[in-house]
This record gives sequence, structure tokens and C-alpha cells, in this order.
Amino acid sequence: MNELGSNGIVTSVDELGEIVSLSEPEEEMLNRLSEIHPIKVSEYYLSLIDENDPEDPIRKMTLPTEGELSVDGSYDTSGEVSNTILPGIQHKYSQTAVILATAECATYCRYCFRKRLVGLPSQEILRNLDAAVEYISAHQEINNVLITGGDPFTLNTNRIAELLEAFSSVAHLDFIRFGTRVPVTFPGRILDDDKLLEVLKEHSRTDRRLFIVTQYNHPREITEESIQAIEGLMASGLAVNNQTVLLKGVNDDAEVLANLQNTLVRIGVNPYYVFQCRPVARVKATFQVPLYMGYRIVEEAKKHLHGHSKRFRFIMSHESGKIEILGIMNGRFLFKYHQAKNPRDAGRIISRAVDKTATWLDDLEK
Ligand code: SF4
Repeated sequence: MNELGSNGIVTSVDELGEIVSLSEPEEEMLNRLSEIHPIKVSEYYLSLIDENDPEDPIRKMTLPTEGELSVDGSYDTSGEVSNTILPGIQHKYSQTAVILATAECATYCRYCFRKRLVGLPSQEILRNLDAAVEYISAHQEINNVLITGGDPFTLNTNRIAELLEAFSSVAHLDFIRFGTRVPVTFPGRILDDDKLLEVLKEHSRTDRRLFIVTQYNHPREITEESIQAIEGLMASGLAVNNQTVLLKGVNDDAEVLANLQNTLVRIGVNPYYVFQCRPVARVKATFQVPLYMGYRIVEEAKKHLHGHSKRFRFIMSHESGKIEILGIMNGRFLFKYHQAKNPRDAGRIISRAVDKTATWLDDLEK
């Protein structure tokens, strides 16, 4: 099922050491950590690392560090297991069905919120496509499907076509989305396979558009090759949205964040969300930025953004829903449910006393 093969993909610390410089202690640590959560990086993405920069953001997103030893946090911060209807089918918000089509990715991002399953044997991956179609067909309130994983663009093109054909048969769907980081970490997957773009074009109709939700986190990821992959997707009739994850040491800087959102608009990608990094075990300690600081960074970045580049919402994807961080007033955070698991929370505004160290809603006193 996998389209990537081993070509251009690094999966061992030895291979990694041939491409980037690793000290001996670092190699030992990587070997130890990769037994818990595997390492995988495309050679393309590795080539973006600046070896002369000890703080290189691409390296931080790709290679494990000591912080990954910390198990503070949870492996299921958004309650995904409780939203699972059947293996690989989640239904949290009434309009959206989420399909986990694979546990593979072109690159395993060290901050991934599905760290519990990427690159690992998992019971949470779709096994029965017919059952998924049957469930969605029986639920008229579902008007869109998000095919994600893992990264569905690592599947072979025939399987992608099969998924699209199956979900296109559901008349009440308005649109189908792919959540994929392939345009960022392995654009060659799109550029070297004309058939993939043909399949996508065939299914992106004027009355039922296909959407890509991708994830650029740093302006350095927007390379010529990546822009061409985006161009291929747009020329095939797909709309491309971006969700950035706010990550310590990567993009927790107003100038970097503003540059990223402005550049995305320049290449035709719509800023959709900026996500507060979730308190994921083996992620939280390294990548989470306190909410207060995150809010300040986002607001500072907005001073350098125009209407199009500030269309995103700053969101905490909480177990109870997608909660927008609206602002701070009289020493209190103001949050609003943008999407709610429980319909009674829809649109609800809540406030919490500011705690400058808090990184998640649950850290704040009611
Ligand atoms: S590509 Fe997406 S699913 Fe895969 S590791 Fe990165 S963030 Fe997680």
C-alpha cells in the first residue's frame, strides 16, 4: 500500500549519520529514542537543515532530543479513542467524519499529536472501507470527510483513488479533505507521480471540491519544490489550507510566524488554524509554549499581517472541542468554542484567570 518505498527516505540512525552530523552521545540517544518512537525523514526534508545553525528549526522538528524522554502529558489529548466508532473512523463533531487511513508518514514529526500511532502497529487504522462508507451514508449530518492518519499521501495512488471513489458515492457530502504534510516534507511524492494529480483532479469537481489541509510551520519549509507541489495541487482544482502548530524553538517568534503566514498567502495557501501544541507525552516538555506567551506572539504577529494572512484562528484542540483563544481582559483569558463535541457548548465563551505558566485549558483554575 505504501507509495514511498525506501527511496529518499531515511529510517535508521546510521543512515541519518551519513547525511547530518551527529555526535556520539546524540547517536546513542537517537538509537534509544527511536526504539520508542521510530525515526523517519525524507532526504529532501533533511537537506533543508542548516548544519551551521545549532537552533535549526527543521532539525528540531525532525530529530528527537532529550526532552522526548519526558512522559509528562497524555498520548490522547483530544479524546480520539472515545470518538472512535470503528477502527479508523472517528466522529467527534456532527458534520465531520475523520478517517485514519494509515499510520505511515513521509517524515515523523517529533511533536506529532498522534505520536501514539505514527510509524507503529496500531488498532486505530481503517480496516473496513465499506463499513466507513456505510456509517457515513447512514449519518446525514456528516457533510465532510477528513482523510488523515498518518499521512494519506504515503498510500499508493490506487488506494487513494479507491478511498475517493468510495467517499464520493455518498451524496450528502459537500467536500472531502486530505490532511497531508507531504507537500512540506516530501513534495517529490506529488511532483513525480502524474497519476496522483490526475486522480485528485478527477475527484475535485466544481460542485464538490477536494481540499488539502497541510502543515507548514516555518518559512524555511516553503521551498521552490514545495511551491511546485502546491501549484500542482491547485492546478488540479484543489483548495489548499494550512494549519501551523505553535512550537517552542521553531516558530514561537512573531516575526517568523508573520513571515510564514504572509508567504503562505503569497503562494496561494490559506492560513486556516494556528494550533496550540497539545500536551502530548514525549512532546509537551520540548515543544509547548505557555498559552499566555503564545497569545502574545500571535497578537504581535498579527500586527504584520493583512486580512488574508490573519484569517487563521488560534486554537486549542481540546477533548471538549476546538477552543479559540480570543484574548485577555481584566486578567482573564477569554476562550470561545469554535467547534464543540457537546452541542450545548457550541459558541460558548468561557473565561479563566490568567496563569502565565499554563499551557492548556486544564491547567487553568475554573
Ligand atoms: S506528518 Fe502529520 S501525522 Fe505524520 S508525524 Fe507529522 S504531524 Fe504527525
